Amino acid sequence: MNKPPQVVVIGSLNMDIVVEADRPPLMGETVHGNQVHFIPGGKGANQAVASARLGAKTTMIGAVGSDAFGAGLLQALGQEGIDVGAVKTIEGSHTGVASIVLSQGDNQIIVVAGANGQVTVADIDQSEDKIAQADVVLLQLEIPLQTVIYAAAKAKQLGKTVVLNPAPARELPDELLQNVDVLIPNESELYLLAKVGAEVELEKAMDMLLQKGVATVVTTLGSKGAAYLTAAGESGLVNSHPVQVVDTTGAGDSFNAGFSYALAGGAPVEAAVSFATKVAALAVTKLGAQAGMPTLAQVEEFIA
Ligand code: ADP
Repeated sequence: MNKPPQVVVIGSLNMDIVVEADRPPLMGETVHGNQVHFIPGGKGANQAVASARLGAKTTMIGAVGSDAFGAGLLQALGQEGIDVGAVKTIEGSHTGVASIVLSQGDNQIIVVAGANGQVTVADIDQSEDKIAQADVVLLQLEIPLQTVIYAAAKAKQLGKTVVLNPAPARELPDELLQNVDVLIPNESELYLLAKVGAEVELEKAMDMLLQKGVATVVTTLGSKGAAYLTAAGESGLVNSHPVQVVDTTGAGDSFNAGFSYALAGGAPVEAAVSFATKVAALAVTKLGAQAGMPTLAQVEEFIA
């Protein structure tokens, strides 16, 4: 049997605290809520769970606080078969939290980075042996940018394929983009990174990022699917699959993990985009980001 693809995810772990109320409070007001849910999240952890469900040997590098949320998140990731040996628990720090008020079909969110903000370049050095085992190193932007820049450079130095999901949206230095093999923005992240307006054609905006040293750009387009463009001149659009959408939280995370899993297994870009599109289609049919991530068997069944 072939050895499973190895994916190392370097990123955030959060506890999402979701409170449901009939209406959001006004400033200075208290309202009674109806329900509260504690839902494991964070782009890094979501992508690690999706990768592990697909069968990749998955390692997570990141940080949690010395609180019950941190312990719970580590336990949950461990149960998915993810190696959490390089997720440090920071004494006196708190686990990253997203506080989400859900009312009238809309939401208000406050994210507090907590321990995610304390993932350092020294942590990357300490985890070098884990990074050295990866086929693909998968990064997002919910840990300090300096650490992301350092991790990408380190992974390149070790000869690894670097995939960056540039979310949440922000401008990025060329120093980072030069070390990125595959950049996977959504449409708004793409235009922000290319520093152009939406009147510019999609392919032109993607090409501007290739000029900055990225080898391949894959732009996710929500229900329209995903477009790709490589420095070698390959390009295409993969349509999304028509599905009964239940919850699009984590759609991007499932796509990034699906793509990285396929790439780590040796798939060419178009096949990896096509696989990721199936993984994401299945993920949006289920409630919850991590809970909705499909297994490889489910993706294969979906293909058939
Ligand atoms: P993000 O959640 O990061 O903004 P997108 O909305 O672009 O990312 O979604 C990521 C991927 O999820 C898309 O490329 C697509 O493959 C899949 N997807 C998203 N919404 C739908 C949908 N309504 N139906 C089917 N697939 C979807």
